[in-house]
Formats: sequence, structure tokens, C-alpha cells
Amino acid sequence: MIKVMKFGGTSVGSGAMMAKTADIIMHERARKAVVVSAMSGVTNMLIAMMKEAEQRQEADLQALRQKHIDAAQATMTPELLDRYVPQLDQRVDGLREALRSYHAAPRGHEKKVWYDIISSWGERLSSLTLAFILRSKGCDAIALTSEEAGIVATGLPGNGTADLYTTSINLKARVLPAIGRGQTPIITGFYGVGPDGRPMTFGRGGSDYSGSVVANGLDADAVEIWTDVDGFMTADPRIVPKAKTLTVMDYNEAAELAYFGAKVLHPRTIEPARKKDLEVWVKNSFNPDGEGTKICRLRQPSGSMLRSVAMKKDLSIVKVYSGEIVYQPGLVNRILENVLADGVTTYAISTSLSTLAVLMPSEQVSESVERLRALKDDVEKVEVKDNVSLICAVGDGMLQTCGVSAQVFATVADAGANVEMISEGASDVALNFVVSNERAVDVVVKLHQRYIGD
Ligand code: ADP
Ligand code: ASP
Ligand code: MG
Repeated sequence: MIKVMKFGGTSVGSGAMMAKTADIIMHERARKAVVVSAMSGVTNMLIAMMKEAEQRQEADLQALRQKHIDAAQATMTPELLDRYVPQLDQRVDGLREALRSYHAAPRGHEKKVWYDIISSWGERLSSLTLAFILRSKGCDAIALTSEEAGIVATGLPGNGTADLYTTSINLKARVLPAIGRGQTPIITGFYGVGPDGRPMTFGRGGSDYSGSVVANGLDADAVEIWTDVDGFMTADPRIVPKAKTLTVMDYNEAAELAYFGAKVLHPRTIEPARKKDLEVWVKNSFNPDGEGTKICRLRQPSGSMLRSVAMKKDLSIVKVYSGEIVYQPGLVNRILENVLADGVTTYAISTSLSTLAVLMPSEQVSESVERLRALKDDVEKVEVKDNVSLICAVGDGMLQTCGVSAQVFATVADAGANVEMISEGASDVALNFVVSNERAVDVVVKLHQRYIGD
């Protein structure tokens, strides 16, 4: 039995949490590999540094370095601390160099590549720190970067996809033997090595995906996502404090909810696990004895009309007008190619005779609209509606049972919200619709109250 245990930012957010996490790892009897996020706040710190690096060539890395030293000092033996600090400093120096390259890089692709490389730096620091803390407690842990482990990525900076086949070959050659020797590899989450040999991240929150990629590559039996809540819940507990933990989910429901806003899992976590039929568990580092949520291929129907509800804010509807769009399949292709070029994410598409509407993150609208305006012979008009949110409602028989949508939309109306767009039927388990940002929280709260309960 091999397990992959992934620990998120809060689970390694301080010396005390790293020590707690080390105990959870050492308590696990199965053979295992660990994947780790940056300490909480560190990825945002790196992003703030890049903002500064636009103006100044030299960055102040003292606070970042000290945060890791403080975590180490709390738990490490003096001998190990003496060996740890020079290795940490080597990695901090690497960051300083990378920030200089970012400062000097010309705008465009090269700048985006350096932005992505620097975003990934926190995981190099946290994995080293956690490995040393484990060693202080007597565990034979080794820190491995994604480069060393052989996690390979393709795609675009900030939106990489793991090459599962090559990654698996590499992990079996480089990581499996260490596990066989009884060592515990502590691998950096969040990024792989891109086609040009440089780091490429899997997008914010991407360490969950790394955990699943490593589990797939090692033919593990399960991947555990250790975080700061008891499991996958019926809603985000920050919005619905009385949200309940689901004990079991199937891959589809978890993947849909994650894609449409449930931050507890990176949206791409399920696919590498599904491919090898391995279980995904969501567990709480603050409550390690809790049951957590098991996510697997199939589960018994629970009979609940609504199982969980997620929400994604700050989206826009881009509506493209052109006469009889549906009779020109080539045009539909051209419009979509232009809307979605350059890594734009889409959350829903709907068509009518002469319009095509696409739901996307507001921050990606201007580039898309610019490309559409260049199609001036084919496109009559482009309209953008900003400040909308997508609600994703997942339940048993969401689409098969008569009257469910009517009940959901009646509740939406009670929350004083107007439905701006609907996506129904594409998924077997989810009903997705768009409301204004302003009303989105109320809609989630009301749906939860009525169909799941307080
Ligand atoms: P980590 O740093 O461990 O990756 P994240 O902050 O990325 O943790 O994800 C955990 C958070 O996800 C929780 O604290 C919770 O607020 C949020 N969340 C959103 N939707 C859900 C949900 N359906 N179930 C549980 N947590 C959720
Ligand atoms: N550290 C990265 C982030 O903050 C990746 C992760 O935590 O999963 O987005
Ligand atoms: Mg996360």
C-alpha cells in the first residue's frame, strides 16, 4: 500500500503546524510520499515582491527567510539547524537571482515565464523546512524539488498540465526506490518542469493537483489532501458556517464543485486519480482523527436533492452578436477560438440564433474582446456584462427528477436574484446558473438553508 499525503499552506503555516504535520506523517504506517504547499501567505508574498521588482532591482527577502527560520527554530535540533540554514540560504539566493531575471525580462511571454517561476519558489522553501523538521523527529525524510522528482508539465505558464506518462516513469525511477528504502520523500507541490526545462505552475492552489499527479505516477492506492477543514462540505464554511462535512462523494460531484468554486480542492485534482481509480481523501490537519471525506468512483445515492453548493465570483458574460450564427459552424469555431485563445478559462457557453454567450473570469475579458473586435466582418457587436457569479448546485437526481430546477429557481427568486444565464444538462450531477455578484452569497445561503438545513 502506498499513500500520497498532500499538506496545504495552513498545515505548514508555522513551526507549530509543521511539527503537527510531521506527527501526522510519522503516524501513518503505510509507505508514503508527501507533497507540500508553500507556507500560508508565502505565494502571495512572492507575488507582492514581483510587483516591487517592477520598480527596484534588489528585493528584500529578509522577512521571507526569517519566516522559515522561525518555523525551523521552533522544532529543529541545533545540529540539524546548522545544516538547514545554508541550504535554505542557497534557495533564497536562487530566488534573489530569479527576481533579477524577472526585473530584466521584456514584457510578454518571457515576463510571464519568470512570474510563474518565482510564484513556485515558496514550495522549495517549505519542503526543505518540513523535511528537516521530520529528520529532527527521527524520520528519514528527504526534500525533493519537482525537478528532482521528475514532475513534467506542458501548457502555458500559470496553467500547466502534468504529463502523467513521463512523470510516472520519472517518479518510479527516482522516488519509488527511496520509498522502498524506507525514506519519506517531501516533494514540492504546485509546479512541474515545462517544455523549456523551466518551472511551470499548475495554477493557484495547484499543489492538490500535484498530490494527485504523484499518486497517479506512483500507482498509489490513495491521495490524502490535508487542509484546515474537516472535509469536503455542503458549502464553503466561510459563507455557510453551519455547512456539514460529506463523508463520501463521487469523482464527478467533487470535480464539478471544485471547478465551479469549492476552493478545498484544485479543480484538476480528480482527473489523475480517476485515471487510476485511486481514492482521494480530504482530511483536517487540525483534527487528524476526524473521518474526512472519501472521494471515489461510485457511491450509494443519498437521496438528497441538494448535496453541496459552490460559487465562483467576479465573472463576466461576453455576448457576441452575428446574424444567424448557428447556420455558420465555421464562424462559431472562429469566435470560440478567439474568445478562448491564450489560456482563457470558460465556465459556460450558450447559443441562440444570432448570439453566442461565454462566461469567463472578468480579468480575462479585455484580451478576449480585443481579439473579437478584430473579426469585424463577421461579428456585429460584442457586449460584456460584468460583476456576475456562477452558482453550482450538485445533488442526487439534479437533472433526472422532475421539478428540481423549478424548486432551485424559486429559491433564487426568494433571494431577490435574477438568473442571467443557465447551464443545465451538460453535467449529470450539477445545475449551474449565473446571478449578480451582489446576490450570490444570499443565493448560496438560502439554497443551503432550504435543502440542506442549518
Ligand atoms: P490549503 O491551503 O490546505 O490548500 P485552501 O484554503 O486552498 O487550503 O482550501 C481550504 C478552504 O476551502 C477551507 O478553509 C474553506 O474555507 C474553503 N472551501 C470552499 N468550499 C469548500 C467546501 N465545499 N468544503 C470545504 N471547504 C471549502
Ligand atoms: N502555494 C500555491 C498557492 O498558494 C499552491 C498551493 O498552495 O496549492 O497557490
Ligand atoms: Mg488549496
